[in-house]
This record gives sequence, structure tokens and C-alpha cells, in this order.
Amino acid sequence: MIKQAIILAAGMGSRLAALHDKAPKSFITIEETPIIIRSIELLLSVGIDHILIGVGHKKEFFESLKNKYPITCIENPAYASTGSLATLAVCQNSLRKNEPVLLLESDLLYEKQALMNTIDSPYETCVLSCPVTTFGDEVYIQRTYKNTLINMSKKQEDLEETSSVLVGINKISANHFEKLCNISKQLTPEKHYEDGLVTLAQSEPVHVIKRDITWCEIDTPEHYHFASSIIWPEIKKKETVPNIPRNILLNPGPATTTDTVKYAQVVPDICPREAEFGDILTSIRNDLTNLCAHTETHTTVLIGGSGTAAVDAMLSSVISRTALVISNGAYGKRMEEILKTYNIPYIVIHSEPTEPLNIKIIEAEIIKHHADLSHICMVHHETTTGLLNPIEKIGELCQTYKLSLCIDAVSSFGAIPIDMAAMNVDFLASTANKNIQGMAGLAFVIANKKALQVTKELPAKNYYLHLWSHYDSLEKTKQTRFTPPVQTIYALRQALIELKQEGVENRYRRYISCWETLMTGLNSLNLKTLVEKEHHGKLITTILEPTLPNYNFQDMHGYLYDRGFTIYPGKLGNNHTFRISNIGELHSKDIALFIDALKNYLSIIQ
Ligand code: PLP
Ligand code: MG
Ligand code: MG
Repeated sequence: MIKQAIILAAGMGSRLAALHDKAPKSFITIEETPIIIRSIELLLSVGIDHILIGVGHKKEFFESLKNKYPITCIENPAYASTGSLATLAVCQNSLRKNEPVLLLESDLLYEKQALMNTIDSPYETCVLSCPVTTFGDEVYIQRTYKNTLINMSKKQEDLEETSSVLVGINKISANHFEKLCNISKQLTPEKHYEDGLVTLAQSEPVHVIKRDITWCEIDTPEHYHFASSIIWPEIKKKETVPNIPRNILLNPGPATTTDTVKYAQVVPDICPREAEFGDILTSIRNDLTNLCAHTETHTTVLIGGSGTAAVDAMLSSVISRTALVISNGAYGKRMEEILKTYNIPYIVIHSEPTEPLNIKIIEAEIIKHHADLSHICMVHHETTTGLLNPIEKIGELCQTYKLSLCIDAVSSFGAIPIDMAAMNVDFLASTANKNIQGMAGLAFVIANKKALQVTKELPAKNYYLHLWSHYDSLEKTKQTRFTPPVQTIYALRQALIELKQEGVENRYRRYISCWETLMTGLNSLNLKTLVEKEHHGKLITTILEPTLPNYNFQDMHGYLYDRGFTIYPGKLGNNHTFRISNIGELHSKDIALFIDALKNYLSIIQ
């Protein structure tokens, strides 16, 4: 997947000077927004996180954008006497190595779909084209029957076949970019990137993808009038989507999602065995790994299913001898049940669900059983109570006693920062639909590659959930072993873009601020919680039910549900509790509104 872009913006745009001479032409505004800013915002919204702008003429305008946007300006000092191919070449050293790049002209007004068509095309290097337009200044394309580029020209008569025109949005592989830079040294300096691509196409496949998209370039006053009166209204019409009614989910996942994540599922039907889908899977795997480790040492295995599928795959596939399970809630118990189902030998330490773990007792148990043990299995954040277990301390024990640590991070991953290498975690199971704020249906195990390699030799205990087989398929074919939840994967791609933009630490901060609003509200209503703040994950709170005679959980649930708030029952044995989670696309004000509604309910049943 493409994560970097170059916008070629060094030129003087002199044909537009009569209308717009104070600033570079890409600062011309459509509904008060300069077209360059719309382009930058669109690039960021599709996950491009490294944007280079090749500048020259009036470069200070572009420099000023650095205050607001994460962009880098690269100067072509010879902009007045060189073409856009020279500007492209000066950007070379500022690109991330071995990654493809999106190459855009700066004077375009285009719909977002144009970016998606280019990013998601299966070809390493491609130019986006559309059926012939009559805006003026078209660059016509001649292509082979296999849709590879032969030639481009502004003069139709130069070409044998001209059924498509260049848009100005292109995808270039790392290797082809390097070749283009070499070509720029061979061609005369006034040449443009189009000339570079035509030369490249003589020896390498440059695909022409043709899509019926809404766009135009703005080179002349006529273009500008056309852009504002025809193209912009059409783009707005295409990109306006209805708001989806918002429910405030206070259950611990599936969590409240953004509309952009919901809409990311609406994509053309695609067979998940196609190359472009494989690229999306690879990119998602790398993004997930990068949230808690490095891709050189760690890898992510995607598995269709809920969070339990990942925990099940992890436990059934990696334990070589006896496991020590640290259990202090319903999900610790589930780990025991999974191991029991597969007849995997295990020892369990039960700890009080609302109390912190006693590390001394755990160490003593490890010493006692050391000869048999190979793994420790535990839940990071016990969703039963909201208790946060100190995986780093158990990781230290694992290092001392040469054990491998497997954690269920289903309800912590994506919010509570985890560094697998530093914490000595070898395997981590989680899911798309909690703190990552994606949709339900996809789970994953993030693994230390060396530890995963060892599991290849273990006899498989199941068929569908065998971790090594899933990994092997993803590595060898870039495809999932079985049919994946296709649309959930598109939503996850968008959710990961949004998580990266917010940052895991900031996301946790936002969740904590929701939790603090919740705690203040619960205090004001005299409702008691169970876990001390010091050991609390601040993601889900177990609350003792009020002792009012007319209280009834279902009744309270119904009252709040009617008002848009979904609350969750307790899961703690005999304690009469209910739970409120504060994960997902929520803000403090949502929690404050919930507290108001809860207060109203409690006063009604008083
Ligand atoms: N583990 C933990 C810690 C959880 O919180 C959950 C669900 O809330 C699960 C496992 C199971 O996830 P799922 O219901 O997606 O199978
Ligand atoms: Mg032009
Ligand atoms: Mg132009």
C-alpha cells in the first residue's frame, strides 16, 4: 500500500496569471479552500503519511502550509528553466526507500475515488486516465491492448490511438522511481514527468488504468470557471453521504465507530484472491505489527473470526509443553477452557478478580513447576472487571525463567501502549472491533517470528485455527488461508489510518478523559466501583448495582437504550454489577450525557 506522495508544484503557472497572480496556481480557491489544501487533506485521509511537495515558484506559500500539515517542501532551485521531471528528481533523497510513491500534479481538482482507484490498482506503476475530455490542454495517451503505456502527447495527431487522457495522478514503484530519476539525467532539463514516463515505458510496463472519474486541471481562467461551475458541484454531489445515526456503545466492543470506517466497507465487489487485495492484507499486517513491535522481528497473522478465534488459535498452536495460566476473570477462565478442550497440559493460578496479581506467588509457582513449563498465558486487561494485569512484570519472569509469554490483549490492544520486545511478549491475540475501532469479524495474532517458527514443528491440534498454516498462507501467497471477511478488512484499513493519525497514546488519553468523566459522574450518583484506580485499565468499569427497591438491570438498560446509550451487564459471579465501557469513537461529552440520562433514570425509580 502506498503511504508516500509527491506533489509537483514548482512551476510558474503563467497561463493563470491574469486571474491569480499573487500566489502559486494551486492556491486558487474553490469554495474558499485552495485546491492544494484539498489535495493534501485527501491524501492524509487515505493514509498517505509522507507528503513531499516539489516547490520553486513562490515557494514560501507552500512552506507556510507546514504549520498546519505534515508536509515536506523540496526545492527545485532551477524551477524557472526546468520541467517537472527535474522537480521529481530533486525529491528522490527525501522519499522513504523501497516504498512506492503517488505522484500528483498540484493543479488538480478531483474526487477522492481517483486516489483510491490509483492506490488500489493491482499494478506497481500506473497512470490514471479517463475517457477523452474537452477541457483544453489534454494529454492524450496511446496504449497497448494490454493497457500499457506507449506514448503521450498534447497533439492527438501524434498518436495512433487516443481513447484516454492523463489525469495527473500516478503510482510509481520504488524501482521505477529510481529509473525515472536516471532518465531525468539523460533527457533535456525542460522535460516533464510525462516525458520521463514515456521513456520508462519503452523498457518497463507502465499501466494505464482508465476510470470514469470527476476531475479537472486548472491551467487557465477557462479551466477555473469550468472547475467551479461544473466539476466542483459534481464532486460535492458524489462525495456527500448521509450521516449514519450514532449510537453510543458503552459495551466493551464492538465499539462505536466513525462514519468513515463504516463507509469504508462500501467498495466494489472483489475476489479476495486478487493481487490488490493481497496488497491490502500485507499492509494491514504491517500496520498492526508496527503498533507494538517491528516488522523485521514480528509478524501479524490475520484470522477471520471474533477475538476468541485469535486466542484459540494462539493457545492451540504454540504451547509445546505445559502452560501456566494466570487467571483472574472470565477471560482467564476462557483460556483455561480452551486449553482443556485441546487436552493441553496446564497449571493455573487463580487470583482475586478485583485485586492486583501477587508476583511473588506467581514466581514461586513457576519455580515449583519449572521443569515442565514452556509458556505463561494471561489476559492483559481483564474485561470482566477492568483490572489491568502487569504483563511487563510477568514478561520479566519469562525472561528470567526462559518461558514464552502469550497474552490475550483483546480489550487492551490499540489503546494501552504495548512494546512486545521490551515486555518479552512472544504472542499477542486481539481483534479489529475494540480499541482499533474497526468492524467485527477479523481477529489477529501478533507473534515474535522466531517463536512462531518453532511452532511449525508442533503437531496441529485443529484444522481451521492452526496459526502456522494461516501464517504460511499469508507469507507464501499474500492471501488468507480461507475466505476472509472482505468488507471488514476494508473497514480495518480505514480504522488503522485513523488510529495512526490519532496515535495510540492519544487514543488512550481520550479514553482516559472519558473514564474520568465517568468516575466523577458515578461518584456524584453515589455508585460504587470495584477496582482501585492504581490497577485500573480505565477502559471498562464494573459498577455495583444501586440498592433501590425498584431497580432492575433490564429496565435500566431499556431506558438508556431508548436514549441512544447501550450499557452492559456484569460478569462477576455473585456480585450484582453492571459494566460501562468507554472505548470507541467517544468523547467526554458523550459520557457526560450518559451520566445525565443515568441520573434521570435513578431519580425516576427512586
Ligand atoms: N478476551 C477479552 C479480554 C475480551 O474482552 C473479549 C471480549 O470482550 C474476548 C477475549 C472475546 O472476544 P470475542 O467476543 O470477540 O470473541
Ligand atoms: Mg495542463
Ligand atoms: Mg496543469
